[in-house]
Amino acid sequence: MLGSGSAGNSALVTTDHCRVLVDGGLSARQIVVRLEQCGVAPEQIDGVLLTHEHGDHVCGLEVLCRKFEVPIYANALTAEAIRYDNTLDRHRNWRIFRTGGEFAICDIAVQTFSVPHDAVDPVGFVFHAGSSRLGFITDLGYPTKLLIERLREVHTLVIETNHDEKLLQNDKNRPWPVKQRIQSRHGHLSNAAAASVIEELLPGKIERIVLGHLSRDCNTPELALGAVRAALTKCGKIDMELFCASQSEISSHFCIGQTERGAFQPTFENGFFHAA
Ligand SMILES: [Zn+2]
Ligand SMILES: [Zn+2]
Repeated sequence: MLGSGSAGNSALVTTDHCRVLVDGGLSARQIVVRLEQCGVAPEQIDGVLLTHEHGDHVCGLEVLCRKFEVPIYANALTAEAIRYDNTLDRHRNWRIFRTGGEFAICDIAVQTFSVPHDAVDPVGFVFHAGSSRLGFITDLGYPTKLLIERLREVHTLVIETNHDEKLLQNDKNRPWPVKQRIQSRHGHLSNAAAASVIEELLPGKIERIVLGHLSRDCNTPELALGAVRAALTKCGKIDMELFCASQSEISSHFCIGQTERGAFQPTFENGFFHAA
């Protein structure tokens, strides 16, 4: 995780052959600095995958893609929403996928699925390389049946724990309609809601959980980790690896699985995508 929280989100997923970003919601400068800390140059990025068009997921994209010509993978509605109000309209490297579809970026197979959130066409991802899978869901109001089915196969899960319900209710700075929006079925997962998603995946293949997108003033890592740890303990799953991503710095590097070294033959075709 390059950084995650209500102020900005970006993550790096790599194999021996391929490096992709999930969202570009930190400043381009911060993305470059944090990539460097991971030993990756921005020129090496094979693409940025977008979950949805909200600023905390795309604000660094314009500068990053202008400077480094990074391909942007998004569904058509998300691309349209982003292109509407900035110079990414002139960006030529759009790769448009269909929500619910699957495609490959080098040796990473990407499965996409719809999530409920107040954006034009928000998605979650499952990444599959070698024998292991990574599930990535951020910004969603509630877990759909489809989403739970997709996540049953994952070994590592990145999931949002946006807010503590009590802290949000008692927050004096947010007007009531904003609180309603956050708690709605098209808002964000609370710590308790994320914990119940995880409970639904147990027992299963899941071995590691990374929490993210914490609200700056309505959550703390201790509360988020505590809620999920309590759910895991209740289910007898005390050996689960559990981490919380930070807004201000990169997380440790998580090894999700092994791909066979050197076995990959590039078969990537732009034909997977039609021009935006
Ligand atoms: Zn959002
Ligand atoms: Zn967000």
